[in-house]
Amino acid sequence: MAKQEILRVAVNAPLRMLFDYLPPQGMVGGRLRPGVRVRVPFGRGQRTGVLLEVAQSTGVGRSRLKRVTRVLDADPLLSAEDLALMGWAAAYYQHPIGEVLSGALPLRLRRGEAAAAGGVPGWRLTADGAAVDPAQLRGAPRQSAVMVALGRFSGRASRDELYGVCGPCAPVLRALEGKGWLEPCRVDGAEGPAVDTPPDNRPRLNPGQAAAVSVVGAALGSYHCFLLDGVTGSGKTEVYLALVERALAERSQVLVLVPEIGLTPQLRERFNRRIREPIVVLHSGMGELERERAWLRARNGDASVVLGTRSAVFTPLPRLGLVIVDEEHDLSFKQQEGFRYSARDLAVIRGHRRGCPVVLGSATPSLESIENATRGRYGLLALPDRAGNASVPRIDLVDVRSAPLEGGLSPVTLGAVREEISAGNQVLLFLNRRGYAPLLTCHQCGWIAECRRCDARMTLHGASGMLWCHHCGSQRRADTCCPECTGADLRRLGQGTERLEETLRRLFPDQGVVRIDRDSTRRRGELERLLDEIKAGRHGLLVGTQMLAKGHHFPGVTLVCILDIDQGLFGTDFRAAERMAQMLIQVAGRAGREEKPGRVMIQTRHPDHPQLQLLVRRGYGAFAAHALVERREAQLPPFSHQALLRAAANGPAAPREFLEAAVESGEGLSPEGVFFFGPVAAPMERRAGKFRAHLLVQAGARADLQRFLGRWVPILESMKLAASVRWSIDVDPLDLY
Ligand code: ADP
Ligand code: ZN
Ligand code: ZN
Repeated sequence: MAKQEILRVAVNAPLRMLFDYLPPQGMVGGRLRPGVRVRVPFGRGQRTGVLLEVAQSTGVGRSRLKRVTRVLDADPLLSAEDLALMGWAAAYYQHPIGEVLSGALPLRLRRGEAAAAGGVPGWRLTADGAAVDPAQLRGAPRQSAVMVALGRFSGRASRDELYGVCGPCAPVLRALEGKGWLEPCRVDGAEGPAVDTPPDNRPRLNPGQAAAVSVVGAALGSYHCFLLDGVTGSGKTEVYLALVERALAERSQVLVLVPEIGLTPQLRERFNRRIREPIVVLHSGMGELERERAWLRARNGDASVVLGTRSAVFTPLPRLGLVIVDEEHDLSFKQQEGFRYSARDLAVIRGHRRGCPVVLGSATPSLESIENATRGRYGLLALPDRAGNASVPRIDLVDVRSAPLEGGLSPVTLGAVREEISAGNQVLLFLNRRGYAPLLTCHQCGWIAECRRCDARMTLHGASGMLWCHHCGSQRRADTCCPECTGADLRRLGQGTERLEETLRRLFPDQGVVRIDRDSTRRRGELERLLDEIKAGRHGLLVGTQMLAKGHHFPGVTLVCILDIDQGLFGTDFRAAERMAQMLIQVAGRAGREEKPGRVMIQTRHPDHPQLQLLVRRGYGAFAAHALVERREAQLPPFSHQALLRAAANGPAAPREFLEAAVESGEGLSPEGVFFFGPVAAPMERRAGKFRAHLLVQAGARADLQRFLGRWVPILESMKLAASVRWSIDVDPLDLY
């Protein structure tokens, strides 16, 4: 009998292995190319998988081998290069390859459906519509909003895009169509350049920017990683734009990763105005079909630029020539569940494998990247000054230890707010705690409202009168009297953004106050609407959580008040101080971004805290250098490498037992240079009803850790105790929870 090829398939299943199949009846397996999707019998059903290899032999008994049911693609959906990158990632992060591959595909393709063609339904401005000034539609704010949105999308947008910006607005669209201002059309995933808007003026690059562009530009065509360390407002985005233009001139594609969707609209507009080639956007908030179209345009080479969030790092790009990661320090680049990859790190790996430059940009680079630059592994490009005429804001610490606080605001802070407001400027007040009050307590007996499923307190949300757990999401109506002593004197302690908003409305009755946090922006399109209102100057006072800290450009803001950072100074995580510093500098960076100079005031009970002093007096660079010395002394990352084995179960015993057994089997492998810390209970042991514990594995050399994990994880998988817990492995964890 002739030798028959074996098809090795990555199936979407939580198993760290490939599955062997015979080719479909009458088909020669050797003709099939890796990267095509196949349907295969799996368990009792059928699943979609991706062909990875055609082999000549298998360890599976002949009689047990099943046949591939159907081959779904004529041409590979993923190239050999894509498959290799994903295979690398699966191995490095110890995650099942089948899940990695299917996670990288748009949803319908993952399910085995055929790739879409022909664009998605949308709308475009007619000639009459283009002549309308949306500002004249004052009596019809929703129509005006749609017209503004369409203008932004170069006069043509898909339904999903419009709903994303304006909320579901079908009746409004029909009304505008009735006026003859819009017409329905098909929109393909990529936005072309706006036909009749002149390209944005390029500012003359300052010497720092010009140097950065010329150094990276000269590196096009081969791998080198650069850290673009530029203070907020120093013109990093201008550098990206100039580099994108250079890369496109060489017919390359460019991948630009950004942390959050909230950032993309502004950045995207800027790219659309400048770049005269098709740009696609990829993020998880998009409609599925639209996302798929965009993905296919990138894969087919039709889109020149991909602007996307974390998962876009896997987008197939046949002509990839440049990778940019903006705000590289941002935690959202690390996926915190399932396949726990770092898109920032994979971007570097991808550039390395591909042979193209990678630019990591930030005003507050991660300590990892700073260390890589110090060691000369990354080229350092510094932009120490703000671009144009803007200057770096002055930062003052406000000691609130014995100050009479009014709604959490000290007299000094309030005085400064008044001053700026009466000068017609805007003030941003940053408080990283949403809700009304973080604590509801009984004044008589000291009872505190706690979550029934977590070791945590409930936050009181004012508008709804509900208690919310911010850890598991459970909610209940707030008690009206104490469940312990039936006392009626329940007190709401502490400040949340809702309460701060209320206080400000009371103190500044003639000012517009806007609050931006996850609660106030839950509705689609709401964030953009509020940001537009801020830009239009409708609000003198802006209250917000970290949502307001990132990337936004508020030209009218001259004063930033940071109300509560003391938690960050004493966090349990060794990265707490780094995060506090990044957050602080990023928020501070919202002040004085144009002609008007900016000021920053930080309220604290620890004005003499050495790290805070260092940060405020000598800046982020000095802070980081000092923090790196401490990390080196303590042998913490980036001077060591870690993996965290987490386990959770309904009771506290099972996770412990599993982790104890895991240590034992790990030590049994007598791994060189690998150390175990724990197991210990997680800092919040009970969360959403599960008891959680973890084990930290650390090694001085990344290779030692990798070699160990490769041997250890298969053992964990086969352990009996593993069945009694939910466990996961997190390589290079950023959160030790
Ligand atoms: P970053 O990305 O570092 O925050 P941006 O690229 O957004 O900085 O630039 C901040 C502001 O300065 C923007 O309004 C931008 O248009 C402007 N700008 C950037 N570079 C220059 C330059 N060379 N000359 C004048 N203005 C500039
Ligand atoms: Zn009580
Ligand atoms: Zn809870």
